[in-house]
This record gives sequence, C-alpha cells and structure tokens, in this order.
Amino acid sequence: MSDLDFVSGSKPIGIESGEGPYLYGTDGTEYLDAGASYACTPLGHCHPVVVDAVQEQIGELTFVDSSYPVQAREDAYAALVAAVPSRLEGAWFCNSGTEANEAALKFARSATGDSKIVAATRSFHGRTMGSLAATWKDKYKKPYEPLAGDVEFVPYGDGEELAAAVDDETAAVILEPIQGEGGINVPPVGYLETARECTDEAGAALVFDEVQTGMGRTGKMWACQNAGVTPDVLTTAKGLGNGLPVGAVAVRDWIADGAASHNATFSGGPVVAAAVHATVSTLVEEEWPAHAADVGDYLVTELETALSDTVREVRGDGLLVGIELKRGANRVARNLALEHRILALPAGRTVLRVLPPLVIGEAEADRLVNALTEILAPEATSES
Ligand SMILES: *Cc1c(COP(=O)(O)O)cnc(C)c1O
Repeated sequence: MSDLDFVSGSKPIGIESGEGPYLYGTDGTEYLDAGASYACTPLGHCHPVVVDAVQEQIGELTFVDSSYPVQAREDAYAALVAAVPSRLEGAWFCNSGTEANEAALKFARSATGDSKIVAATRSFHGRTMGSLAATWKDKYKKPYEPLAGDVEFVPYGDGEELAAAVDDETAAVILEPIQGEGGINVPPVGYLETARECTDEAGAALVFDEVQTGMGRTGKMWACQNAGVTPDVLTTAKGLGNGLPVGAVAVRDWIADGAASHNATFSGGPVVAAAVHATVSTLVEEEWPAHAADVGDYLVTELETALSDTVREVRGDGLLVGIELKRGANRVARNLALEHRILALPAGRTVLRVLPPLVIGEAEADRLVNALTEILAPEATSES
C-alpha cells in the first residue's frame, strides 16, 4: 500500500459502524474520527435525534416534490433561516456543497447582471463546472477545461489585491472565511471586512462558502460571525444533515430575486429535511458551537505546547485545526490511523487537518496530542 493509496481511497480499514466521535472497523477496532467523515457529522456518528427523525420521516413520506408544502421541509427551512445571520432572509436546499456554490454563482450573476467572479488562490469550492472554475488547484481543473465562468484569482488574505480586482463588472466575490482544503488558512483580521466593503461599493455579491467552516465548527454557528461580517450569500453542506447528503444557499433579499428559475428535483426532500431540522436545532439548542470553541482552544493550546519544536505552526479556529508539519502529512496521517487508531486528513502536502465531530471532549483531544507527540518525536523520525 502506498501513501497515495492511503489518502486517495483504498485505505486498509473497513468501517462498519459509528457512534459519537468513534468509528468501528469490521474487526471491532475503535477509531477516533478526527476527519474521516469530512466535517459531515458535527453531532457525531448516528446521533440518536437525527437517526430517529430520519427513520420516522422515511417511513411516513420518503419523497414528494418541493412544490407541495411538507412539514419536514418547512421545519428545516425555519431552523436554517433562524440559524444564519439575520440579514440572510431566505434559503434554498440542494444536495451538496458544489451545488450550493453553483447556485450562489448563478444567483449572483442574475441579481447583478454581471458575470465576472473573483476567487482566491488555494480556494476549494467543489467539482462541478462553475464551482470548479472558482477552485484554485490545476490538478482538479486541467483535465476538464474549458470550465464555466470568467474567474479572476487574487491571493487569499490580501485585502488590497482583492479590492483592486473588484469592479463594476464583478458579479461575485467568493471566499471561504477560513480555507479548508487549501491548508486551513486563516485570513488576517480585517480581510473579510474589506471583502464586504469592496463588494458593497461595486454592487457585487459577497459569497461566503461555509461548507467546511459552518455548522458550529469554528466556535460560532458560522465562521463569518467570528468576524462580524454578513455576506449576501452563505453556502453550506457537509455537516448540514449530520451525514445525509444536503446543502443549502442562504441569501439576502436582493439575491433571492435572481433565484427564480433555479431548482433541483430533490431540493429539500422530506428525509434530508428531517435530518437538517434535527441537526440544526440540536446544534443550536445544546450550544455545540460554544463547546467546539472551548475544546478547540484546549486542543490548540495543548498541540502548541507539546509540538512547539516539531511542527511549524498550529492554526485554525474551534475544531477546524491545521497542523503545518515539517514533513509530509500523508505519512503522518497513515501512522495516526494504523498505529494510534486516529483518522485525520491531510490538507495539502505538509498540513494535517483535524476536523472531528464537535462532540469530542478533552480526553479525545489529549489522545490526539499524545499520538502526534509520539509520531513527531525527533527520535521517531527515522522510522516514520
Ligand atoms: C467540501 C467542500 C465543497 C464541496 O462540497 P461537496 O459536497 O463535496 O460538493 C465546497 N466548498 C468547501 C469549502 C468544501 O470544503
């Protein structure tokens, strides 16, 4: 087995079940999930409130199209709209993150009458034609060109370059409030505010892709709330249904006007709607974002203390944590999994990404810190 195989799919670990922050292999081995579910299970695996809601709904009404009012869908919309920043007054459900961003870019074009999109270096917005055009990495794009859209890339985190790129022809600026896939990159203070100001001045839509940062992961329900900046469009997916495939676009009124002829067959289907309602209301009512902030602070402090000599940097917010290593992240992820039963993800060549369910506690954080301390210890260098 090569390291590449380990990261790209064929991992030698069959998973059979999950509970809370743990996954269980076919041989009964318990693994701590620090990334295996890609931020899709904020409440932990098989959370009983979500499981019950889905089981009840699938037996009652599995599907009817979205032109018929259904209680589950109305409850899901109400919960989501109540949970997004207050100036985002409407929402639309889709099936994934890329579809949410695709919709955001369409809505922005239609609401502004413009077509130029400004995106950032090292961004990741998804793999369908429009979202892919706004994604940075050539590896994901080259084989499929030409892509859909007129996209200009500016260096992530540089407010001046961003403001200079936004003009009267700009339909949207699309940014992750903290970049996930691109390496857990936290922008400097004031960057999101600059994005807000320059899009306001140009009459362009500000789109925040919160597919990875949202659902409480960074200590607030949405990462943009840490900066106090409300976008015109907020996209979410991954953890929105605690593991069921669902995404959403939340919009301000002037953007909603541009959404008239967009839809999808499965938009807000009753089963995923039941999952969304259960997930969002549980996260909010039980205050899991605040818990993510506390455990995240604890984890980052412990990592910094234990690893100050063996890593370059620990960064992120809440339970979206990136560890910039002095060596390849694939191999460290592999050691974590095979020797320590902890499943984490690389984000780029040298960054190890930790994004566990928000329900971990200090014991799980300690387990990760101890394992990394062992793997990265100088005397272990030759074997790892
Ligand atoms: C995962 C991700 C996407 C794409 O979501 P899919 O559901 O895989 O289409 C888009 N944006 C960000 C920030 C992501 O992390």
